[in-house]
Amino acid sequence: MKTLVWLQRELRIQHHPALEAALAESDDIIVAYFHDPEQTIGDANTAWLANSLQQLQQDFKAHDGRLWCLEGNFEQQLDHMIQTYQIEQVFYTFQLGHPFKTMQQQALNVCQRYQVALRAFDTENWLPYDQLLNQSGRPYKVFTPFYNTLSQKLSELLPFSHAINSLEKTARTICQSGQDQTLPQSLTHLSTRPWARKVMQHWQTGERQAWEKFERFLNEGLAHYEQNRDFPAVEGTSQLSPHLHFGEIHSRAIVFELLTLETEPGIANQAIHVWLRQLAWREFARSILWHFPHTETHPFQAKFETFFRPLSEADPEQVKNYQAWCAGHTGVPIIDAGMKQLWETGWMHNRVRMLVASWLTKNADIDWRAGAHWFNNTLVDADPANNTLGWQWVAGCGVDAAPYYRLFNPVRQSEKFDAEGHYLRQWLPELTPYSSKQIHAPWQTTPNEKRVRPIIDLTESRQRHLEKVATLKSLN
Ligand code: FAD
Repeated sequence: MKTLVWLQRELRIQHHPALEAALAESDDIIVAYFHDPEQTIGDANTAWLANSLQQLQQDFKAHDGRLWCLEGNFEQQLDHMIQTYQIEQVFYTFQLGHPFKTMQQQALNVCQRYQVALRAFDTENWLPYDQLLNQSGRPYKVFTPFYNTLSQKLSELLPFSHAINSLEKTARTICQSGQDQTLPQSLTHLSTRPWARKVMQHWQTGERQAWEKFERFLNEGLAHYEQNRDFPAVEGTSQLSPHLHFGEIHSRAIVFELLTLETEPGIANQAIHVWLRQLAWREFARSILWHFPHTETHPFQAKFETFFRPLSEADPEQVKNYQAWCAGHTGVPIIDAGMKQLWETGWMHNRVRMLVASWLTKNADIDWRAGAHWFNNTLVDADPANNTLGWQWVAGCGVDAAPYYRLFNPVRQSEKFDAEGHYLRQWLPELTPYSSKQIHAPWQTTPNEKRVRPIIDLTESRQRHLEKVATLKSLN
C-alpha cells in the first residue's frame, strides 16, 4: 500500500499517531509538507515554520528517512503527487481553523477524485471533543466546569503506541525532482528576511529543542510558576506555546510526563496542577473552535457582532490609533512595551496580551478581529483556537463571560504586575530615567512642555465604552 502522510502542524517524529499507523501498515511511505503561500497564518508563524521544517528534515535524515517539502497551490500539488506516485491512501492529522479547514476540504476533493482513501487522525487534543460534554450533552462554554470534567478523565487519555526508531520506509521512494531535500523557495526567502531573522534569533525550533525547553521548565520554572506567571519581567512561564502550536511536542505527551511526576517526590503536586490547568485552556480553546467554528471570524455572543467598530480606511482617526497600537506608540507604557516585545520577539507575555487587547477593543473601540489579525501576523505561536479565544475573552464577546465586565486599567495593571518597571525599561529604554513609581504613567509627572500624553485618554474612553455596553444591555 503506497501511503502519503501529509503533515500540517505535527512537526515531530515521536508521539505521532498518523506516522505510526503508516509505518505499521505500509511499506512505501511518503511524508510531505505542502507549503501553499496563499494558505498561511502569518509572517512570524511562517518564519518559525521554515526553521522547524528544516530541522525536521534533518531529524528525518538522522532516522534514515526523508521528509518532502513541496510548494505551490495545495490542491494542485496534492493532485500531482497522487497521480505521479500512485498514492493509494493519505493519512493526516486533523487541525482546526484557518487555513487547515480549507486544505482539509481540498484534500477530500482530490482524494475523492482519484478514489484514494483519506484517513484523518483526530489526535492533537487530550480527549475527543465529544467526550467532553456537560450533563445535558452540550459543549461547555465556561472553563472551570470544562476543566473539572477534563481532569477527572485524565486517566482515559490514550497512550502513544511506541517510539519510532527508524523512518527507513519513508526513504524508499526516489524523488526525481530533487525538491524534497531543500525547503521551498518562498519559505527560504521569508526566513532570511531581516525581520524574520531578528524574531527567530530568540527561538530554537524543533522536537528536541521543545523537549529540552520542557525539561528546563520542569526543573527551573514549574515550582514557581504560580507565583511568577503574571509578571512579564520574570521568565516565569514555559514559552512552549509555539512548540505546541507546531506540534513539535504533543501536549498529551506533556500530560503523561506531568502525571508521572505527580507520583514522584520532588515538585509539589500543587505546582503541577496549576500549570496543567493553564495548559487545559488550550484544550478549552480547541473544544470551543471545534463546536463553534464560526467563532474564528464572528463573536460567540451574536449580540456583539456590530458592537465593535470595524477597522475602516474611511475613518482616519481610527486607522491612526490602530497603527499606533501596532507600532507601540499609544503613549501607555505597558501597552507599548508589549507591542515592542511582540515586534522584536514574535511573542508576548499572557498578562500583557490581555492588556493590549483590552486597550485596542475597549479604549480605542476597534474590532477585536483587527487585533487578532495583527497577532496572526506577528506571533510565532499564532494559533486559530488560542488567538480567537484570547481576543474574544478580552473583548467580552466570547465564551466564559465574566459576571462583571472586564475592563483593564493598564496603568493599575502595570503598577501591580511590573511594580519596579523592569519590563517597561527593557522594551522602552527611553523611560529608564523615570522612577518605579512614575514610569507607569509618565505624563502625570512630566513637566507640561515635555509631556507626551496617551493618544487616547484612558478615563474618557473607559467611560465611553461602559456607556456603550450599557446601551447594548438595554437593547437585549
Ligand atoms: P504557559 O503559561 O507556560 O502555558 C503553557 C501552555 O498552555 C501555553 O504554551 C499554551 O499552549 C497554553 N495556554 C496558556 N494560557 C493559555 C490561554 N489563555 N489560552 C489558551 N492556551 C493557553 N496562545 C497561543 O498559543 N497562540 C495565540 O495565538 C494566542 N493568542 C492570544 C491572544 C490573546 C489576546 C490572549 C489574551 C492570549 C492569547 N494566547 C495565545 C494565550 C496565551 O497568552 C499564550 O498561550 C501564552 O502566553 C503562551 O506562553 P507560555 O507558553 O509561556 O504559557
